[in-house]
Amino acid sequence: MTDLTRLTAADLAAKIKSKEVSAVEVAQAHLDRIEAVDPRVHAFLHVDREGALAAAARVDSGEVDGPLAGVPVAVKDVIATRGVPTTAASKILEGWRPPYSATIVERLQAAGTVMLGKTNMDEFAMGSSTEYSAYGPTNNPWDLGRIPGGSGGGSAAAIAAYEAPLAIGTDTGGSIRQPGAVTGTVGAKPTYGGTSRYGLIAFSSSLDTPGPCARTVEDAALLHAVIGGHDPRDSTSIPEPVPDVVGAARLGATGDLTGVRLGLVKEFAGDGSEPGVAAAFRESIEALVKLGAEVVEVSCPHFQYALPAYYLIAPSECSSNLARFDGVRYGLRVGDDGNRSLEEVMSLTRDAGFGPEVKRRIILGTYALSSGYYDAYYGQAQKVRTLITRDFQKAFEQVDVLVSPTTPFVAFPFGSRTSDPYQMYLADLFTIPTNLYGGPAISVPCGLAEGLPVGFQVMAPTMADDRMYRVAAALESAVGTLTPPAL
Ligand code: GLN
Repeated sequence: MTDLTRLTAADLAAKIKSKEVSAVEVAQAHLDRIEAVDPRVHAFLHVDREGALAAAARVDSGEVDGPLAGVPVAVKDVIATRGVPTTAASKILEGWRPPYSATIVERLQAAGTVMLGKTNMDEFAMGSSTEYSAYGPTNNPWDLGRIPGGSGGGSAAAIAAYEAPLAIGTDTGGSIRQPGAVTGTVGAKPTYGGTSRYGLIAFSSSLDTPGPCARTVEDAALLHAVIGGHDPRDSTSIPEPVPDVVGAARLGATGDLTGVRLGLVKEFAGDGSEPGVAAAFRESIEALVKLGAEVVEVSCPHFQYALPAYYLIAPSECSSNLARFDGVRYGLRVGDDGNRSLEEVMSLTRDAGFGPEVKRRIILGTYALSSGYYDAYYGQAQKVRTLITRDFQKAFEQVDVLVSPTTPFVAFPFGSRTSDPYQMYLADLFTIPTNLYGGPAISVPCGLAEGLPVGFQVMAPTMADDRMYRVAAALESAVGTLTPPAL
């Protein structure tokens, strides 16, 4: 009998629609798989067994239908799910059950998907390894002693470990793409404003972008099409339909890239990718050229300032966004014994509730926004952001997409970068420029280095998400998908 957990979302949707399998069987197979492997992987913070089986039964009874009817999906725990625990992997939100669902969760339900549960992540999506989860890290299915990337390591690992065919992530500086790269899966960051932020617990509101995680490019596109599009409840949502990402993925899968111009960013070349990563990237470029693509070197001189600009803008926004976690409104409250002032209770709650990386960002951001420093730090970073946007715009006058490795290094062992925050921040060297610009980008597996997956990144102009799917699907047709060792 076919192992239902090995099928793509596209195949599962077709088999459920034709009644070859029931949605309940599909949900059960994935719940069994979670029970078998998640004690070792720890991709999930919460498994909603009853909710999943009930949703699947509604599909089987015909009460619910939709393009992905009966297909299981895992959701990053930074996204509000009504009545289902939502912690952002923080102690400060332990036990919180939101009274409402995010727009993308409502769209997942309308599409007929079956939510299996909530996935692990770095606390409030700050990190690149899930080592900053307050509930313990997720282990990479390729090597349980290594990180699965972050912040959305749980979503990527759940897919790589066949616990779910699809997952939702959020990408502020790389948190969908970098976990995708190091787990050998596909992760796409849509155009900023192309997917709704309503119900997403805010980290850095001008950068946060929900998006799809999957094992194939077509599956990522199918999920993207379902969650994307205008949402009047998000003030920065773009009032335009999602580009035809599914059509573009199918076109790319035919393996013809005749006339497509790929831009190699000159400034990325010297940026210390591990030799195995650089080699897999070079071979992928050769494969794309064989499919008809042209390669052009382009210069983006301000990309070198992306990381410092990001680490002023994102912490500044986070220091403001996280002010709401004060012990009054949600979750944890510490020291409220009737003798302490409100300020003391807030301070004790925040001290106990936030982990070290979140505190570091809040302190950094508060400093960057303080009077006297605002212009020198936050204001300056915003100017750099404009220059980076112009670099992208100029580059896209010469090429259709930009390409790079997704991350300079493969999955690293636990503990190897936590003592030096800067070493951790370098994981997003190649992903952060896109977030500052607001365009879409995707990571697709392109081979192995020392037995571990390497990701290939395709960046496209804003609202040209379809282009990146086409190129990514073409690469996938040339190099195939990756299968981790059996767990
Ligand atoms: N790793 C980056 C950070 O720590 C990006 C996080 C993200 O995209 N959510 O901020």
